[in-house]
Amino acid sequence: MAVLKALGGTSDILAPESRTWQRLENEARQVLELYGYEEIRTPLIEEAAVFTRSLGEAAEIVTKQMYLFQDRGGRSVALRPEGTASVVRAFIEHGLDKTAGLSRLYYLGPMFRAERPQAGRRRQFHQLGVEMFGSASPYQDVEVIALLMEMLRELGVKVAGGPGDEKAAVLKLNHLGCLKCRPEWLKNLKEYFKERLGVLCEDCKVRFRTNPLRILDCKKERCHNIARERIAPSHRLCDSCRRHADQVKETLWPKDDSCETSSKRKVYFDWDNWLVRGLDYYTGTVFEVIHTGLGEKAQSAIAAGGRYDDLVREMGGVATPAVGFAVGLERILMVQEKAAPSLAPPGSAEVFVATFSSQEIPQGMELARDLRTGKISSIANLEDRPLKRQFEQADKLGVRFTLILGPDELKDGFVTVKEMATGQQRQVPKGDLLQELRRGVKGE
Ligand SMILES: [Zn+2]
Ligand SMILES: [Zn+2]
Repeated sequence: MAVLKALGGTSDILAPESRTWQRLENEARQVLELYGYEEIRTPLIEEAAVFTRSLGEAAEIVTKQMYLFQDRGGRSVALRPEGTASVVRAFIEHGLDKTAGLSRLYYLGPMFRAERPQAGRRRQFHQLGVEMFGSASPYQDVEVIALLMEMLRELGVKVAGGPGDEKAAVLKLNHLGCLKCRPEWLKNLKEYFKERLGVLCEDCKVRFRTNPLRILDCKKERCHNIARERIAPSHRLCDSCRRHADQVKETLWPKDDSCETSSKRKVYFDWDNWLVRGLDYYTGTVFEVIHTGLGEKAQSAIAAGGRYDDLVREMGGVATPAVGFAVGLERILMVQEKAAPSLAPPGSAEVFVATFSSQEIPQGMELARDLRTGKISSIANLEDRPLKRQFEQADKLGVRFTLILGPDELKDGFVTVKEMATGQQRQVPKGDLLQELRRGVKGE
């Protein structure tokens, strides 16, 4: 019979890697909670319309990459390809657009895209995202961006402090305009590309009809050159968009360097007039964090986001400005500084309880339970096997201490404690055991 395997582009995460993931998630959660964000958990499957309506029928994510199927009731269902659409759907469904004022939400979990697996791209991958609803303030953009950069730093990613920093995360920033100034610019853009349609690549010919903005970030050289010749989105901003963009820039990187605290809070960015996002719903501020260590071939963005001030209304809710981002967690693991020793995962259990014979197994189980009550992780021997085998297992587990229970120990009320690093053994009265182990394990 053929051996069953995980689907291509998906993978199992085993220990010790799963510990690295837990750490990553915990550290990220801590930063998010410091900024007052609360977790939202939405289903992995949604009615397909949640994504077609929010991302646009023509978005590549929808036409080429979404896992779509009919469920048994004949409904069109999709595995979520990204997080924002589901969060907005939930935000409206639970009436937060009418009641919440400001909402700071985050999510963390797997996303799915049916595309050819390649470096840095998986069919099931993990994203952490932040969605801030209810504020149109440019300072809100700055806070969201500052949160992102601080989180990256906490996760062990080197963040560029200025131009030319090697192998570091660089923030790229742009402004796409609003409902007032964007249509005019899009019209000009279409006219410009219409004259050059013959030279554009096949994909861009389709984009010209469906989403001309995407021509701006086509990776093909000839399209790239045509796009860079003349058109820049932020050159056509209305006054209010220009003020918003200036405020974001000035707050991230104040020109006036005289204030000491401001230099500490400065966030370095690279203004990129041609930065557009793959999804239709972005307006105003957009950004991407690229990492030069990821290389050209792999998609180099480790995080991306921006404003989507019209999305809540477009999906049927009360108009609510919003700004957010998503971070690719697999990519974070790829670019973490290798040297960060705190990320080295420890063994899972701290104590192994060995028994002289199968007679003492019930007492061994009880001892392990007592230790766990005292917050010391413990694994007890449950097999009828010689001590030597048990020691071998304790070695493999990488525990700090092995405890031995035998008839003498039980009769006289003590436990033999073996410190694995030194091989030294001593006898400890049962009443003192927890305290002694705590001192050894946690340094208390
Ligand atoms: Zn505008
Ligand atoms: Zn192209």
